[in-house]
Amino acid sequence: MYAKNLRCRECKRLFELAAIHVCEFCFAPLEVAYDEEAIKKKVTRKVIESREPTLWRYHEFLPCEVETAIDIKAGYTPLFHAKNLGKALGLKNLYIKNDTQNPTWSFKDRVVAVASSRARELGYTTLACASTGNLANSVSAHAAAAGMEAVVFIPDDLESGKILGSSIYGPTLVKVEGNYDAVNRLCAELAGTYNWGFVNVNVRPYYSEGSKTLGFEVVEQLGWRVPDHCVVPIASGSLFVKIMKGFEEFARTGLIEQPTTRMSGAQAQGCSPVATAWQEESLTFRPQKPDTIAKSLAIGNPADGYYSLVQLQKTNGACASVTDPEIIEGIKLLAETEGVFAETAGGVTVASVKQLAEKNHIHPDELVVAFITGAGAKTAEAVTDSLNPALEIKANQESFAQAYQSLAK
Ligand SMILES: *Cc1c(COP(=O)(O)O)cnc(C)c1O
Ligand SMILES: [Zn+2]
Repeated sequence: MYAKNLRCRECKRLFELAAIHVCEFCFAPLEVAYDEEAIKKKVTRKVIESREPTLWRYHEFLPCEVETAIDIKAGYTPLFHAKNLGKALGLKNLYIKNDTQNPTWSFKDRVVAVASSRARELGYTTLACASTGNLANSVSAHAAAAGMEAVVFIPDDLESGKILGSSIYGPTLVKVEGNYDAVNRLCAELAGTYNWGFVNVNVRPYYSEGSKTLGFEVVEQLGWRVPDHCVVPIASGSLFVKIMKGFEEFARTGLIEQPTTRMSGAQAQGCSPVATAWQEESLTFRPQKPDTIAKSLAIGNPADGYYSLVQLQKTNGACASVTDPEIIEGIKLLAETEGVFAETAGGVTVASVKQLAEKNHIHPDELVVAFITGAGAKTAEAVTDSLNPALEIKANQESFAQAYQSLAK
């Protein structure tokens, strides 16, 4: 393993690779630091390209032992040139990173692959999490595959697809009265009482490293170059920040040039603490009470909100905020132009790309990657009322002809 320490993001003090997540001196978050000189000596583009198509092809950059990792084949999802959607939005080089195609149909399989593997190395036999839905699905699946216990905590207003998507793997599923921020607060307390690996609480530094693999893959799939511009949905802001950490680690280990990518964020207006602060040109956000159909992004008090704002400023990005009707339009537009059915978070991303292009934050020639992070079947409720109903007919030709003709306007 090439991970050497946890490092405080502010004071840069080093800590052991333990189940801790904040600096005991300045209370800033910790992140994983690697022996990049050693990685540089070992890892080449060819070495990576020769490996199996999962996120473990980048294992030198991940904080757990690859031989004993819990592997349900997350990652290496398709990246493709979305010509039809691009045309609809006036963008010549729009790419979709389709992370709906993960084992539990969201990008959360990346973070859980890493966090669950590290949690088991640290001796935990139970995995837990505070989730807006997708994380609970992935923790439940990884625990099942590893023969571990899972206790997953979710808000009590989630879509039925998100609930089923956990229950099927047999975890202890706990619905908490209240929103995600209440669930998260509770789990922070429980982590002090129960000796469990809470993937996004006490082992959070390992969890967030999994997000980097989206950045690694995009670089490799573009032929070892960074995009000009990324549009990324923001919940806690971890994914948004870690994609860039991935680009920078690739650059420091000699795999690519120093990245110049502009990083833009996507939020739902009903939960837009980062977008609001960005509009106000502030680096301090005000927590919000979420009210949006994009439940997987409904974090009113984002852990990486500050770092997201710093990154927006530093990379000359922009942060969109889109309404619930725009989110539904975004889901439908992606489905109807590219054949990809995304969940509400994907609708937020597509609607944000549209908004940012209209406001000239995205230039028509830029190579843009839009990150579609979860699959649509899990949030079916969001769109069912806005789709065309089926034709209902008798089993004969006239009945069909009549019904089919009635469609012609
Ligand atoms: C969790 C999640 C995100 C982003 O989460 P961060 O907390 O910002 O890392 C994006 N899309 C979906 C579908 C998610 O489940
Ligand atoms: Zn510190």
